Amino acid sequence: MFEMHILASGSDGNCTVLVHEDRAVMIDAGLSFKATSRLMSTNGIDPSSVEALLITHEHSDHVKGAGPVARALNIPVMCNRSTFLSSNMGRVLYSETQTMVPFTVAGIRFTPLPTSHNAMEPNAYMAEAGGKRVLIATDTGVLTPPVEDALRTSDVAILESNYDKYMLDNGPYPIYLRRLIESDIGHLSNVACAEALKRTTNGMKRKIFLAHLSRKNNTPDTARETVSNLTGTRRMELDCLEFAGDTRILRA
Ligand SMILES: [Zn+2]
Ligand SMILES: [Zn+2]
Repeated sequence: MFEMHILASGSDGNCTVLVHEDRAVMIDAGLSFKATSRLMSTNGIDPSSVEALLITHEHSDHVKGAGPVARALNIPVMCNRSTFLSSNMGRVLYSETQTMVPFTVAGIRFTPLPTSHNAMEPNAYMAEAGGKRVLIATDTGVLTPPVEDALRTSDVAILESNYDKYMLDNGPYPIYLRRLIESDIGHLSNVACAEALKRTTNGMKRKIFLAHLSRKNNTPDTARETVSNLTGTRRMELDCLEFAGDTRILRA
């Protein structure tokens, strides 16, 4: 069984730990080491079970704690070379990966998939073990075909639902930032997330987690409401973090 611990999701920091048969992998380390280790302990994650740290891209909400976490846990950082070279992690064990080339760590098979974002070579990850597939896809202005395919076949989809268009248009962000966020290399809106889910419905009972919600341009209620209305999925089946410091465990 897969256990996915969403320890943080959004522009204040991103960190997910995937556990499969007592072996674990961390995806992104956007919190300090102190905050990360506190959250691991309150969520019952044994730090010595974590075998690697995978990075999606070099933005600070994903890599801020990467160096300290990798050094403290004595685990390799795994990502593509462009991402590694543009992240300032200091001295860490580095294991190079390539977009679209699967690899196995902690008994879990990962495929890094290309996303569309204002970063060097951003990736989403498809994780497979025990016949289950989990997709973690955030920070993407549009869904690339490989991410869309992965979404169609996943048992659990941790998918970005970053902003509400009305809130973005009427919110505090300067115009250039608004334009970037809603561009093809920005973030997925609630509507774009819903449309992607709708396009990839396949009759499978897919678990959905709405990720990377903007604190300024979205609310958990707005995201759930929009996705529920457009996809016909019941609100209670659409999970997301409710407040700063909230965490979640998903199982599949
Ligand atoms: Zn981000
Ligand atoms: Zn980003």
